[in-house]
Formats: sequence, structure tokens, C-alpha cells
Amino acid sequence: FQVPDPKNEPVLSYAPGSKERAALKKAIEEARAHETDIPMYIGAEEVRTGNKKRLSPPHDHKHTLGHFHEGDAKHVEQAVNAALAAKQQWADLGWEHRASIFLKAADLLAGPYRYKINAATMLGQSKSPFQAEIDSACELIDFLRFNVYFMQQIYQEQPASSPGVWNRMEYRPLEGFTFAVTPFNFTAIAGNLPASMALMGNTVVWKPAYTQVYAANVIMQVFKEAGLPDGVINLIYVDGPVAGDIIFNHKDFAGLHFTGSTAVFQNMWKTIGQNIHKYKSYPRIVGETGGKDFVMVHKTANAKEVSTALSRGAFEYQGQKCSAASRAYIPSNLWDDVKKFLIDDLKSFKMGGTEDFGNFINAVIDERSFDKIAGYIEQARKNPMNEIIAGGKYDKSKGYFVEPTVIVTKDPSSVTMCEEIFGPVLTIYVYPENQFEETLELVDKTSPYALTGSILAKDRYAIELATKKLSNAAGNFYINDKPTGAVVGQQPFGGARGSGTNDKAGAKVNLLRWASMRTIKETF
Ligand code: GLU
Repeated sequence: FQVPDPKNEPVLSYAPGSKERAALKKAIEEARAHETDIPMYIGAEEVRTGNKKRLSPPHDHKHTLGHFHEGDAKHVEQAVNAALAAKQQWADLGWEHRASIFLKAADLLAGPYRYKINAATMLGQSKSPFQAEIDSACELIDFLRFNVYFMQQIYQEQPASSPGVWNRMEYRPLEGFTFAVTPFNFTAIAGNLPASMALMGNTVVWKPAYTQVYAANVIMQVFKEAGLPDGVINLIYVDGPVAGDIIFNHKDFAGLHFTGSTAVFQNMWKTIGQNIHKYKSYPRIVGETGGKDFVMVHKTANAKEVSTALSRGAFEYQGQKCSAASRAYIPSNLWDDVKKFLIDDLKSFKMGGTEDFGNFINAVIDERSFDKIAGYIEQARKNPMNEIIAGGKYDKSKGYFVEPTVIVTKDPSSVTMCEEIFGPVLTIYVYPENQFEETLELVDKTSPYALTGSILAKDRYAIELATKKLSNAAGNFYINDKPTGAVVGQQPFGGARGSGTNDKAGAKVNLLRWASMRTIKETF
């Protein structure tokens, strides 16, 4: 039999006066009207430890959205044991049943849960309606549906046989339990990392960022309503090092699916390496980490298109995407026009909280992030090679608001040109228009990351040269577009170098990482 052909979920517009807009507003009001008490989910239990941590919208930190119950080392152990206990039955279940559960979850998100999950993402992570819709609705739904399709493709891939010999391939789950560690910035990623491993027959301990818990709780409710058996995904809120200490020391640890910072990922890898002799199998390690994503512009590009790629690529969701444009190289002949259009764009962006749907710029995720971004802005301000041509102000009195900030630098290796800031800060270097090739080299050398990047040009030779020269500089390379917004099934997402293991989210190769293959040869 054949699983349904996946199609990308259409994006709702929430246009003024539409019934979708009214429904989303209502879901936000309902969510704001009460405080949610959020348990951990371990095996069949909802675990309330009483160690409650407060959740508030980053754009309105005086408001309380609810509390979650933080766990400790013993809850990590319980979660591991629950995952191990659920494993055999789950792995033995026909794959069509696993597929049905996640297809049902996708339908729940596309239908009855759509406004609820979007409202949770808008309040918990300060996203605009559009940014929430493309994330917690469309991308998560797409991940779930395409994963099922990729799984079937994988299972159908069988080796050749010959007369008297029948060869077959089994795609078994990994032996042991797996660990999903998810970031705050995409609800879709938070749902996909545990779901993709579970779909392939694995059981999972899932640890989201504390700033993600509000939406993670809704995802878990959806999975449960879709029929996910107890213990298959165990959702815990435990300090990272405490969880790591138990999980990475466990003989049955079989795989890590991670999205987050480079430093945390490297530490995990180191710990796994140190413990390698303890494990039954070599664990699978899949990680998507940092980025310092570029927009490279050729002298033949259209200045208006360049400014749109920059303003949307750098500032949508306050630049808190691994893929966000954060360094740009503009040829001198286009600079005056690009600058004018860019400043006009930024003037048109309204800044404020989730509740006013007209706002384009919202708050950054938390105080730590706010302070870090503000620190980068101040450091840039002090450098005489820099000029801040837009933004540069920030205010945390009501929420963690940072103005979209554009720094123009004469030093292409200045700090904000090289380091990941993860906020609404774009640094621009204006290069002599006839030094395109030299500047391509600069783009390649400047950062240790290689996640996304764009070339904007009309000239085909320039496009070809950039594509070749920047071959290793980005795992997702865009021609005449912004470097964000990869669509599941269309632009498999991920980068190499310091940006991760490049096991492409939203692609068959990623699912294959969660299967352990057995080749069977039978002779007659
Ligand atoms: N997939 C997202 C994009 O293409 C970025 C994911 C991330 O920030 O981790 O923009």
C-alpha cells in the first residue's frame, strides 16, 4: 500500500476581517486569560514536581502565561526507563500504525489545533501571526506528513537479488533509547526532532529549551490525542547538564537529535566521545547548530530586491533564525539605492507585541539574549570603523525589544561581521564593485559556519562563479532570494562546517539516520 502523497500545507493569511484572524485572536485571548499548569510527560504519568518555573511572553514579561514543573536527575532516569520500557512494543508495531499516528497529528494541527498552537507560539516565543503560521502550523504539519512519505520510500528501498539468492534489507529502529534536544526558535523543529525518531520506531526522551515549553506542551497534547502510546516520547524539563550527565552515561543511549547552539552541541559530542566505550552501539549524532549567514550582491542585482532580501532575511522573527541574513556584501555602485530602500523598509516595520497583528518586529526571546545582543550593538558602536545607520536602541522595560539594527563596517572582519548574534542585527560591508571575485573569497573565509547564504545578481556568469566559489560556504544556497524560509520537501535544510552535521531536516536522509539496517541474504 501507499501512504498519502504529501503536499505542503497552504499558509493562511489572517487578513483583516477574515474568520481565521478572528479565530486566532480568540485563541490568544483564551490563552492569556488563564495560567496553564504544565507537567512533564513521563511514561503514562503527568509529572508535577511542585518546582514551578514561571512562563511569560517575551514581549510582556509582567504577564504570567503559566508555570511548568521542573524536574531533576531522577526524572531523567524515569524518562529513560519509560522510553526503554515502551521500546519493544512500539518497535514491533506495524509501521503503518506509527505513520497513522503522525498523520493524524498533522491533521489535528491543520484543523482543530491550528489556532491554539499558533497562539502558543505567538505568546510563548513572541512571533507575528505570519511567522507562527509558517512555523507551528505549516512547517510542523509538513514535517509530519513528509516524514511518513520518506519513511515509506526508505522501507521500499531493497537490494537486488540473483538466481538462488534473495537479498533483503531491514530498517530497524536503533537499539536503546534516543534523545531530542530542541531550541526555542521553531515550534516545528521542537515537534519534528522527537517525532522523526519516534516514527522510525525509536522511543525518545525529549528536552526542549525552557523558552519553548509553552508550545511544546501543546505539541505533546496533539501527539497524545493522535494516539501516541505512553512512553514513546517522554517530555522533560530538566537543566541541560543534569540531563546530559545521565543520558550520555547510559549504555543504551543510541542517538542524539539536536538543534541549538554550537557550543552546547560540541560539549555534548565531547561527552559522548569520552563515554564511547560504555555504549552498546555507536550513537547516531545529528545536529543543526549556528550560522553567520550571508547575502552576497553583484553589481548587476536589482537594488530593491536586495533591500527586500535583507530586510526580510535579517529581521523576520527578530533575526532569531539559524538561517537569518546577518552579514551582507554590497557593491559600491548599488549602495546608495540599497541604503535608501533598506531604511525605508525599516521605517515601515512596526515594533510591538504579538497582540497587535500589524507589528512586524517583536521582542527577542529572553533577558540573556537581549543583553547579549545589546552588548554586540555597543561593541560595534565603539569601533570607529563602524557606523550604525538604522536602529541601535533597545528597551527591556515591558518586553525584550531591540530595534532592527544595521551596522555598516569598513572592516569586513569586524566582530559583528564574524560572530553569530542571533538577533535583529545586520552588518554590511560595501565592496568596490569591480572586486566581486575577491569578495567571494572573503565571504567564504569570514565565518566558521556554513548554513545558508544568497547571491543576488542578474549576470549569469556571476551567479555561476558565486555558486562554485561558495560551494562549501552554505548548506542552503539561494539565488536571487533571502537566505531563510526553507520549505519541507522542497529545500532540505542544514549546513556543514560549524553549522552542523548537515543531515538535512525535511529530507529522506534525516529519517535514515534513525534506522539501523540489517542486510539479510537467503540462499535456496
Ligand atoms: N529552516 C529555517 C529557515 O529556513 C531555519 C531553522 C533554524 O533557525 O534552525 O529559515
